[in-house]
Amino acid sequence: MKSHQKGIHHITALAGDPQQNADFYVKKLGMRLVKKSVNQDDPGTYHLFYGNAEATPGSGMTFFPWPMARQGKPGLGEAVKVALAVPSVSIEYWAERFGKEGIDFDGPYDRFGRQAIGFKDPDRMALELVFDDEAGDLPGYENSTVPTKHTIRGFYGTTLFLEQHKPTADVLKSLFGFTEAENEGNKWHYTTNADIGSSVIIEEGEPKPSANGTGIIHHVAFRAEDDDELKSLREKVLEMGLSPSQVIDRHWFHSVYFRSPGGVLFEIATDGPGYDVDEDPNKLGQKLILPPWLESKREMIEKRLPEITV
Ligand code: ZN
Repeated sequence: MKSHQKGIHHITALAGDPQQNADFYVKKLGMRLVKKSVNQDDPGTYHLFYGNAEATPGSGMTFFPWPMARQGKPGLGEAVKVALAVPSVSIEYWAERFGKEGIDFDGPYDRFGRQAIGFKDPDRMALELVFDDEAGDLPGYENSTVPTKHTIRGFYGTTLFLEQHKPTADVLKSLFGFTEAENEGNKWHYTTNADIGSSVIIEEGEPKPSANGTGIIHHVAFRAEDDDELKSLREKVLEMGLSPSQVIDRHWFHSVYFRSPGGVLFEIATDGPGYDVDEDPNKLGQKLILPPWLESKREMIEKRLPEITV
């Protein structure tokens, strides 16, 4: 039996205009809108989820769009970059596509042994496409605006910007199955055995002026196999002297949140039940999905949300 894959489950960030956000991730990057829901703590605003062909853990880039929010500025103690995995044969395709779409990019450059290009989304959140042979083995998304074979397969990883790498590295290693792979100057690279979402870079730096707002990554979630593992990881968080939340039912997964020693908000999220628990797997993202406890307020919620099309 294949052991459970460890790595990133999803990453959540703040965005501005929801239509602009959907246009970028669905139309320009060709990702799949796998869930159109609301912020469970602020149901008058959207929560949008973009994933891969099968909406698997390790592919969920999620956003809270707040049209009135001001532009954020990333700083110390945050995840500052999201890396998405595409097959290594796709490098020319993407460079040409970005040229046509008017998306500025840096690179290709080396990201710990893989070629990558760096760019920003409309809210100035930093992204990378990482060209990876193993990503090419995963199924592409057939209904994408990008030809199937070149589509994004999920996360490659993320970059955390911290004052010191070690305390957070200890959390990655003892809770989430990462091992230290390489170190170059002020950057440390940690990896797992997962097909996607298996790479975390910790970059050490000095404090700099920052502001919460659009384009800021809110939290990084790591995978737990099931509720039993979630509970045992929560115990380990306590043993490390950190302060985990109670288990929270997020409907598509069950979660525990805690602040990592370096300041980044981490979440532990179960692989199941999954994004298809309340929708036909072939029709994900097409209608507004509310968790059961908000269903009685659907009419009011729908009236407050701006319409978005993809
Ligand atoms: Zn989350």
